[in-house]
Amino acid sequence: MNVEVLTIGTELLLGFTIDTNGAHIARTLGEIGVQVVRRASVGDRGQEIRDAVQESLARTGAVVTTGGLGPTRDDITKRAVADLYGAPLDFREDIWQALVERFARLGRVAPAVNRLQAEVPRGATVLPNKWGTAPGLWLEDARGFVVMLPGVPREMRKLLEHEVVPRLRVRAGGRVIRSRIVRTSGIPESLLAERLGDIEERVSPLTLAYLPGYDGVDLRLTAWDTDLREADRALEAGVRLINERAGDHAYGEGDTDLAAVLLDQARARGLRIAVAESCTGGLLGKRLTDTPGSSDVFVGGVIAYANEVKTSLLDVEPVLLERHGAVSAEVVCAMALGVAKRLGVPFGISVTGIAGPGGGTEAKPVGTIWLATALQGTTQATHIMLPGSREEIRLRAAQAGLLLGVRRLSATSAGR
Ligand code: AMP
Ligand code: MG
Repeated sequence: MNVEVLTIGTELLLGFTIDTNGAHIARTLGEIGVQVVRRASVGDRGQEIRDAVQESLARTGAVVTTGGLGPTRDDITKRAVADLYGAPLDFREDIWQALVERFARLGRVAPAVNRLQAEVPRGATVLPNKWGTAPGLWLEDARGFVVMLPGVPREMRKLLEHEVVPRLRVRAGGRVIRSRIVRTSGIPESLLAERLGDIEERVSPLTLAYLPGYDGVDLRLTAWDTDLREADRALEAGVRLINERAGDHAYGEGDTDLAAVLLDQARARGLRIAVAESCTGGLLGKRLTDTPGSSDVFVGGVIAYANEVKTSLLDVEPVLLERHGAVSAEVVCAMALGVAKRLGVPFGISVTGIAGPGGGTEAKPVGTIWLATALQGTTQATHIMLPGSREEIRLRAAQAGLLLGVRRLSATSAGR
């Protein structure tokens, strides 16, 4: 089953409000096998609303709108859609009384303008709104249906969940659209695609989407318009195949954070972590402390931006800095060892690099990053080149530090 979503509000067109409603509706309906095939936004203007709804009805016969159901002059969705259906607005005493009571509970008298919200297009089904003042409305004739929901995201979500999803689920006849996301890091999209190869053919009828970000590439597998058991079975097989082929680049599913993965692994081994950061200026520590409950594993770190801090607080030998430079295998290893020793923990992670835009040389261009781990006194260093702006390089370097930590710990447990 296909639907179109029309979000209504001049603020959306001006770019002051981001259309989160459209995204939420698409995700929610997808889970019950109702596919959003087009999303559009229009301003609070009658003609535009009518035109847009009419076009959508002609294409799919199924439209969900949000916005423009409030009591103010700019809220005209209901009138515009009622016009299209040739339905006069009837004042409904029961809806008005519910509004009066709602205001009374808040110790207020219902304003006269809210009487507009008690008007219902003749023949419409009212979707009661227990979370706000504007009820949702469902109008339907031979051309198809239009569901009108309020724009306030919380109210829209509640009405969608309680009033719209159950009705559409029946019409979708038990079919679903389901997705699972596998998160990867430390491998560019193109290399990942090479590794995954013919995965889409292997796990048909799934589709695979690559979603690159600063944290890495998320892989979204989707089963379209199938029954729930078949979807879950196919997704399970697809996720297993991706994990096999992506190897240790795959670190979790859904919205799993790599920092949380690292903390869990360290916790399971009874290891506490310290970080030494140069170019990331504390981002690694931030990522680790973003995770609630990190304090039992993460003890702290040193932001050793200047060489004298690397020397004085991390015991990096000045001769290493002179001979190899601050961005080098030797220095990054000394940083990891130094911070672990100074903070009295078995596991240190360090990062140093050139985030740009200045400071690059031919031998060490902008984006050159050295990372290291020190585990129980043994160091391992890695060199990577990162693309992007200063901010992107720093975000990616922090993520790379977390990934290195995860890999070091899993290699240890595998006895490597
Ligand atoms: P309305 O129902 O048009 O009075 O909308 C009420 C409020 O909901 C607006 O002021 C916006 O802040 C918010 N809103 C409306 N449409 C959307 C949308 N598509 N996505 C997110 N927020 C919205
Ligand atoms: Mg509005």
